[in-house]
Amino acid sequence: MISSHLIPVAGGYIDGHWCAADGGQTFPVINPATGDVLAQVARMGGGETLRAISAASRAMANTPAVAQRREWLENIAAALIKNRDEIGRILCMEHGKPWREGKAEVDYAAGFFTYCAANIEHLNPRVLAEHPRDCEWWVLYRPAGVVGLIVPWNFPIGMIAKKLSAALAAGCASIIKPASKTPLTMIALFALLEREVQLPAGWANLVPGSAGAIADALLTHPDVAVISFTGSTEVGKELIIKSAAQVKRVALELGGNAPYIVFADADMDKAVDQLMANKFRGSGQTCVCANRILVERSIAAEFSKRLAIRVNALRMGNGLDDATDIGPLVDRAGYEKVRHHLTDGLAKGAQLVAGAMADTLPPLEKEWGGFFPPTVISGVNRTMACWNEETFGPLVPIAEFDDENDALLKANDTEYGLASYIFTQDAARAQRFVEGLHFQHVAWNTGTGPTPEAPFGGMKQSGYGREGGIEGLFEFVNVKTSPVGI
Ligand code: NAP
Repeated sequence: MISSHLIPVAGGYIDGHWCAADGGQTFPVINPATGDVLAQVARMGGGETLRAISAASRAMANTPAVAQRREWLENIAAALIKNRDEIGRILCMEHGKPWREGKAEVDYAAGFFTYCAANIEHLNPRVLAEHPRDCEWWVLYRPAGVVGLIVPWNFPIGMIAKKLSAALAAGCASIIKPASKTPLTMIALFALLEREVQLPAGWANLVPGSAGAIADALLTHPDVAVISFTGSTEVGKELIIKSAAQVKRVALELGGNAPYIVFADADMDKAVDQLMANKFRGSGQTCVCANRILVERSIAAEFSKRLAIRVNALRMGNGLDDATDIGPLVDRAGYEKVRHHLTDGLAKGAQLVAGAMADTLPPLEKEWGGFFPPTVISGVNRTMACWNEETFGPLVPIAEFDDENDALLKANDTEYGLASYIFTQDAARAQRFVEGLHFQHVAWNTGTGPTPEAPFGGMKQSGYGREGGIEGLFEFVNVKTSPVGI
């Protein structure tokens, strides 16, 4: 069992109180590196969610002033930074990523609160310069209502920070459904909201447990104005359908299938360096990590060789060990998906460049311990599962292209549209790709993903809505217009 001063209760937090599930049910949270049961967390459902919605509605009866909301945001950022080591440790133990990555994620999360605090003035009312129809026109940004925030396990603090910061900035109280694999980091955040921020009761409510029942309560309650979801495209589509009954606003941050394009004129060492940082963060379990590496044919062999040297040097292990570069996959399903992508690729003609042959990797017997060796394969093509699906693991599939047109066609050959990367020294070509790649995030000569200061989100089946940047501040407001006769 985990012991932490930031986990006072393995439960929910509703209307300013820690609580167990109504029926007393719990679910286990397992350390994917060791199999240890870290906690038995309250398994809540529809009843607890309805109470949380009522608490949130009561809290919102009076909209706090901008100055108050800014202070909350600043205090949350400060509390996160002050407690980054302990939150990073909890995160490492329930997710499996190295502790230092956990700490970096806490910094990233704090950045969203800091950014929203610094830019909250954008939500002040504004008056149009023009006076059409003999009126003075006011535009007001009002809190949309109670919001439901549903988040995945792959960034246990980062993903909620994006949503909660914008919700509080807008003046919206929230019901938060954490991922069942990683609810402990969220409990730690709520301990900070209670102790260090003293956020008044009802403004943030935590309901861990049965996803379907919690989501249904959020979708059917008239007080819930927005549901912001980050997770799989499959569940996102289900939410779209269910949201129709009340025309509920949904914001969806869904899966990706990122191309990483390297031209012969690129700085190859930089492209390799950036790929290592991009691909192996969180053991490759990120929505923005490179999923298909497209390399110009004339440099493909040399690129694979340099990449293999770096990949073979990665040390796999328990994230609490300082020497660990890459932790386990979160569970058996995650491990089996990567194993399938490798087996399928090799069966269809790909070659192993680094890592393990598929037949040396047995099926995973237990739910935990999915240490998948970082692996590189070349000769990948569009018939393979690793081309068409998000692998979500440390498999690097390399395909070759002949020219610009071929690279663009191959990169865009996916229903997803989240992140993409291009490495070239040719600025005019880069510009053509920034325009031609059907992805929201198009990075040139860098493997960096999102940052609090810039808008981020999906196109195509990667979803809609934006988080981060000024655009992200408007996710949870109703834009109202008031013409005043003069
Ligand atoms: P997931 O299975 O869709 O789960 C995400 C969240 O939704 C969890 O809290 C889950 O609860 C809940 N959920 C499950 N079934 C639900 C249902 N029927 N109705 C409502 N909520 C439901 O996704 P995941 O495996 O946790 O996360 C990985 C996916 O997230 C990947 O596809 C990744 O690309 C995507 N992602 C996207 C972004 C982005 O910014 N676009 C960022 C990070 C991750 P339980 O945990 O209780 O099942």
